[in-house]
Amino acid sequence: MNLTIFGAPGSGKGTYASRLQTKLGLSVVAMGDIFREIMKENTPLSRKVKRFVEKGLLVPDDVVVEVLKEHLAKIPKEKGLILDGFPRTVDQAKMLEAITHIDAIILLTVPDWIIIERLSTRRICKNCGEVYNVRYLKPKVENICDKCGGNLYQRPDDTAQVIKDRINVYERQTQPLLQFYRKKKMPIVEFKCEKLEMPPEVAVEEILKGLKRLSLI
Ligand code: AMP
Repeated sequence: MNLTIFGAPGSGKGTYASRLQTKLGLSVVAMGDIFREIMKENTPLSRKVKRFVEKGLLVPDDVVVEVLKEHLAKIPKEKGLILDGFPRTVDQAKMLEAITHIDAIILLTVPDWIIIERLSTRRICKNCGEVYNVRYLKPKVENICDKCGGNLYQRPDDTAQVIKDRINVYERQTQPLLQFYRKKKMPIVEFKCEKLEMPPEVAVEEILKGLKRLSLI
């Protein structure tokens, strides 16, 4: 089964993808994590990627697709996938059709005020990328990842101005994708979050129920 998880920045894509990975035994391919790894290097590609990510803009489609293909070649094909943060444009969705088949979309709908509140208090594990929140999703030990013991940090693009720009980019460039998939009658499992303090387990249970209704699990 191949899924893509779709939603605004801060809608919970990474948090739920990591839990669904454990429950369903799928590989997670998180585009943002891949770019953050690339940005640790000092290469023409890393410098190019940085220019976009730091401003909250989308990396150009040709670069994204190349990087994705390279990454997919390294992971076991039989396991199935959760794509987190890809596709983000209609062109990327069209390119994805040539790479692999998608069985369903998990759509996360979250109001802007929750997104802004969540992103400004979000922390990420430097080592494994697990997502925490200093207010609503605290690690057991302050600043230390429960999963791997790595140190937590605040993403440089989780600042007020860049958050605003990322939400704008989502509304302008990524939202039209939904239309594209609806027209294609792609199965969609929607989870609407209306509360700031939503335990990830509740959301994940709802998503699993949706996947069962589609007979995908
Ligand atoms: P994320 O961790 O998903 O919030 O992604 C962080 C940043 O990586 C985004 O703000 C974009 O700059 C870049 N990025 C991630 N996925 C994509 C994509 N599919 N297309 C273009 N840029 C992306």
